[in-house]
Amino acid sequence: MLEVVVGCMFSGKSEELTRRLRRAKIAGQDVIAFKPSIDNRYESEKIASHSSVTFDAKTFKNFEDLISKIMMIRSRNNDKFPDVIGIDEVQFLPRDFVPFVEMIVNSGSKVIVAGLDMDYLGKPFGPIPDLMAIGDKVIKLSAICVAEDEMGKICGEPATRSYRLSSKNSGKLVQVGASDSYQARCRKCWNK
Ligand code: ADP
Ligand code: ZN
Repeated sequence: MLEVVVGCMFSGKSEELTRRLRRAKIAGQDVIAFKPSIDNRYESEKIASHSSVTFDAKTFKNFEDLISKIMMIRSRNNDKFPDVIGIDEVQFLPRDFVPFVEMIVNSGSKVIVAGLDMDYLGKPFGPIPDLMAIGDKVIKLSAICVAEDEMGKICGEPATRSYRLSSKNSGKLVQVGASDSYQARCRKCWNK
């Protein structure tokens, strides 16, 4: 079973992922969570959401590191993957991640991935489109559009897109940052 949690920044992807992992744990399942080590916004050994919900997670430096960590866990577990594997921020992983996930899922384990569906330019992000296509369940979340009008009033519509505020690190697609660099925006305000 593959579950794919997507949306723009602040849409609650980390919150939804950790909620699902916590429930699997309550159900007595063997749960393991991963997140890339570049995502060090709040906590380093936990998946942290913008609302401070956390879940213990192992970090990985890149795709090769993630593979070796998951395969190590499998060999220590009598060649069986854990019941549930959660992975946050998967938009940064290469396309090769997709067959790797499929292999785990085909062996009978559940994989829950979370990631940005689009980059700040509105383009589908990394392996996410493929994961959405092959996922058994796709959860697309929205945030709240916080673009302000001339009077400083917040839009408040559902936001589906990440808007980049600052031009620092421009030219670099991967910029992990919180509310100081990005805003969640609806399509109309994103296009302004
Ligand atoms: P994501 O992983 O999608 O970036 P998180 O799970 O880390 O999202 O954070 C979601 C939380 O962020 C919300 O529950 C809310 O408390 C907070 N938040 C901050 N800004 C916004 C916004 N513009 N829209 C919705 N939630 C927001
Ligand atoms: Zn708006």
